[in-house]
Amino acid sequence: MNILVTGGLGYIGSHTCIKLIEAGYTPIILDNLYNSKKSVLNRIATITGKMPIFYQGDIRDTVYLTTLFSQHPIQAVIHFAGLKAVGESVKNPLDYYEVNVQGSIALAQIMRQHQVKTIIFSSSATVYGEKNPVPYFEHYPTGNITNPYGWSKFMVEQCLIDMQKADPEWSVVLLRYFNPVGAHPSGLIGEDPQGIPNNLMPYISQVAIGKREYVSVFGDDYPTKDGTGVRDYVHVEDLALGHVAALKKHDQAGVHIYNLGNGVAKSVLDVIQAYHQACQRVIPYKIEARRPGDLPAFWADVTKAKQELNWQAHHTLSDMVQDSWNWQQKNPHGYPDEE
Ligand code: NAD
Ligand code: UDP
Repeated sequence: MNILVTGGLGYIGSHTCIKLIEAGYTPIILDNLYNSKKSVLNRIATITGKMPIFYQGDIRDTVYLTTLFSQHPIQAVIHFAGLKAVGESVKNPLDYYEVNVQGSIALAQIMRQHQVKTIIFSSSATVYGEKNPVPYFEHYPTGNITNPYGWSKFMVEQCLIDMQKADPEWSVVLLRYFNPVGAHPSGLIGEDPQGIPNNLMPYISQVAIGKREYVSVFGDDYPTKDGTGVRDYVHVEDLALGHVAALKKHDQAGVHIYNLGNGVAKSVLDVIQAYHQACQRVIPYKIEARRPGDLPAFWADVTKAKQELNWQAHHTLSDMVQDSWNWQQKNPHGYPDEE
């Protein structure tokens, strides 16, 4: 079964391609290399023994998409491609709406023209906004979001829901990720942020390896157990398997929404402490002001994915930090441009 994987060379996409190959699927990767390197392909081939088919192109390029869909029979699409930096989205909202929303619409239009009616979309816990109590359940209302990145996810969800209403043959799976971290246990693939990392785990990794001096802890006066922000960290390996599990919905028309998280709440200081234990180095940190737009605490209720997809996360925070550290040590400068 051929699965088109947009953004398949990125952090979550590359881990998912490995799981797809291991499960007997054929991923066909479309990526414009905006936030990834071609050398990821060799790494996937080293791990799986199979070199994935790769198209270097943009989801907004409908001519290119048409060629791709004409050359391969595609059974389903896993749609990762997009921009993901929350702060950048506040500064350049139109870029985010263009790539994330317009790009997703372009992709769905071409899928429709080629009668491909299964899409698995990378959404985010951010769509729950700031008014819902924790843990988050899939039936909670979405909206009240604090940034354009989150709104772009909200809008794509709505576009896909409406499209499915208009043509009930579609199977639309909306996967709401919590905080993906970690790396493949081989240390061959992992998260390779360009410039200063926006997210906590890659920032800690760079402090641990000596690239940055200390971790800025954004706030210690939240109403949480130690005052720092609380999140639901999920190993990218588990998350990748969640996509393979979601492919089960290929034959079930409808809109299917799942939280992909561990269902476990961890604070910023918990993560720093766990990383310290994994790398056996001091992780200096300084308490700083809250980051605008951050919520104090959220985590997932994960019952639905367990019941309907038979999926649940197995890796602990200790596994996540160990695999992050392994990746960081083996690739202190991230991926090479060419390999
Ligand atoms: P990533 O940046 O590592 O991967 C995205 C990939 O898409 C990159 O390889 C990039 O080159 C490619 N891409 C970007 N714009 C493109 C375009 N116009 N056409 C074709 N390819 C394009 O990000 P990731 O962390 O792997 O995230 C994947 C998806 O999951 C994104 O949609 C993101 O918003 C969503 N998500 C990520 C997180 C997270 O914390 N990483 C959390 C929730 C949701
Ligand atoms: N955080 C932090 N320092 C950093 C990056 C993040 O203290 O350099 C905190 C942030 O305030 C939040 C948690 O770590 O409480 C997770 O943030 P991240 O950006 O990784 O994910 P988010 O949940 O914001 O998408």
